[in-house]
Amino acid sequence: MRKQIVAGNWKMNTTPTEGLKLAQALVANARNNAVELIIAPPYTHLSEISKVLKGSTIRLSSQNIAKEKEGAYTGEISGAMLKDISVTHCIIGHSERRTYYAETDEIVADKVKTALDLGFTPILCVGENIDERKANQHFEVVEKQLNIGLSQVDKSDIDRVIVAYEPVWAIGTGLTATPEQAQEIHAHIRTVIAKQYGATSAENVSVLYGGSCKPSNAQQLFAQKDIDGGLIGGAALNADDFLSIADSF
Ligand code: PEP
Repeated sequence: MRKQIVAGNWKMNTTPTEGLKLAQALVANARNNAVELIIAPPYTHLSEISKVLKGSTIRLSSQNIAKEKEGAYTGEISGAMLKDISVTHCIIGHSERRTYYAETDEIVADKVKTALDLGFTPILCVGENIDERKANQHFEVVEKQLNIGLSQVDKSDIDRVIVAYEPVWAIGTGLTATPEQAQEIHAHIRTVIAKQYGATSAENVSVLYGGSCKPSNAQQLFAQKDIDGGLIGGAALNADDFLSIADSF
C-alpha cells in the first residue's frame, strides 16, 4: 500500500531561528495522522530541528546529498553527516539543482544510489520545462529522467523511493498543472516504473505532485488516482497552509 505524503521543501528560505519556530508550529499543530509529513529545511537548520521533531511523526529531509560518501569535497554534506542528526529523507534532482548547479541525470542516479545505500528514502524529482511541454515532449522527458535516475536502483529497493513530478513551469510561478495534466503524467510514471520493476512495485511507489500546490488546489490534485500527495515549496513556509494541504486528501 502506498503512502499519502506531504513534503515541504523550504529551499534557501528562513534563518535558523525562523526555521525553528516554523518547525515548532508544525509539531504543535500537526493533526492528520493518516498523512506522512516531511520537512526539508536548509542544512544549517537540520540539527536543531531534528531535536524539535523528536517524538513527533514529522520526518526530516535534506534538500540534497553528496554523491560521494566522504573525503576531500569542499562544501559538500555527506549522507553520514545527515544520518547522525536523524535525517531520513533526501530530495534529489530538484529542478533548481539541475538548472543552477548542472546536476545531470547521471549525477542524480549516483545520489539516489548513495542515499539508498545509506538507508535514506530518496525523493527523486522529475519534470519537464516549458519548452518541452510546448513541444509535447513531457512524457519522454520524464521517462528519460526516471530511467536514468533509477538506473542503479535494484528491484528490492524500488519501494523505498518516492517520486515527485514537478513540472518546472509550475514551480514558484503560481501556474499549476491541471489535475488532469498531473494525473496523466503520474500514470505515465507508474507505467515507466512498471516496465523496469513490475506492476506491483509501480503501484506501491508514492508519486507526489509539486508546482504551486496550495490549500486552494491541493484537494483536486490529491483526488487524482495516481497522485499520492505533494512536494510543496512556497506554501510549506507557512504552518497553517502546509497543514491545511495535509488535510486535503
Ligand atoms: C518545489 O520547488 O519543490 C515547489 C513545488 O515549489 P512551489 O510549491 O513554490 O511551486
